[in-house]
Amino acid sequence: MVISVASGKGGTGKTTVAVNLALSIGANVQLLDCDVEEPNAHLFMKPVFAETQTVFTPIPEVDEDKCTYCGKCGEICRFKAIAVVNQTILVFEALCHSCGGCVEVCPANAITEKGRELGVIQRGHRNGIECVHGKLRVGEAMSPPLVKKVRAFARPGKLTVIDAPPGTSCPVIASMKDTDFVLLVTEPTPFGLYDLQLAVGAVEMLNIPCGLVINRCDLGDNKVKEYADARKLPILMEIPFDRQIAEAYARGAALVEVMPEWKHRFLELHHAIEAIIK
Ligand code: SF4
Ligand code: SF4
Repeated sequence: MVISVASGKGGTGKTTVAVNLALSIGANVQLLDCDVEEPNAHLFMKPVFAETQTVFTPIPEVDEDKCTYCGKCGEICRFKAIAVVNQTILVFEALCHSCGGCVEVCPANAITEKGRELGVIQRGHRNGIECVHGKLRVGEAMSPPLVKKVRAFARPGKLTVIDAPPGTSCPVIASMKDTDFVLLVTEPTPFGLYDLQLAVGAVEMLNIPCGLVINRCDLGDNKVKEYADARKLPILMEIPFDRQIAEAYARGAALVEVMPEWKHRFLELHHAIEAIIK
């Protein structure tokens, strides 16, 4: 089973939910932190990282001795990442989505592929829980390929919890796509509701069952609950605004380790998700 923990808005407590869900279930669980621009699940999990690997994505390299400047590569590239200008061929590496289309259409076999560094993946363990995260290279704009590389560590037969990036853009879709369930973490504020609506729209497009966790549930207003009622979205957990929880977060401590009474609530959350998927 693969559960993706997402949120339309940053700062809602998504990582708190992902980490504590994984810690509560314990053995046979993987936590994949796909928030590759700013991975932070490891700050709470504190795994020992045993492996680091650099990840590359293929981009075109043109042999101008073979190139006839026919322009076919530029015609097929929908990202405008390769172009012929005045008998010169230009490759805009940062725009390339590594689709390989230009390589396929080149009639002169003038294009080969070289690697552009995307970032690194680190893998480690904590109490039998496998933790994997990606770190995007500073200046790299293309995060979905690195998200996919992190997701490739998902193993059949394990429960995989994905900590998705915030928002509803391409890296979030790459983190949620083809998962079994999306847990949307939100807060009862106008910003929380607005971003939740966007996130629910994205999850519906992907046709994945989803449920809500409302963090800081005793602040703000009732509009998130009214929205959930109207859209028939199950509210699977509510976390109050609590000084002890906030202090644990600020210290980088996991909630279930500071307040063990929360463990059974996260286990109930897991059971509720299982019941929805079945
Ligand atoms: S398709 Fe090949 S031959 Fe044509 S312009 Fe591009 S690199 Fe050159
Ligand atoms: S690999 Fe795809 S995205 Fe990159 S330059 Fe070629 S056609 Fe464009």
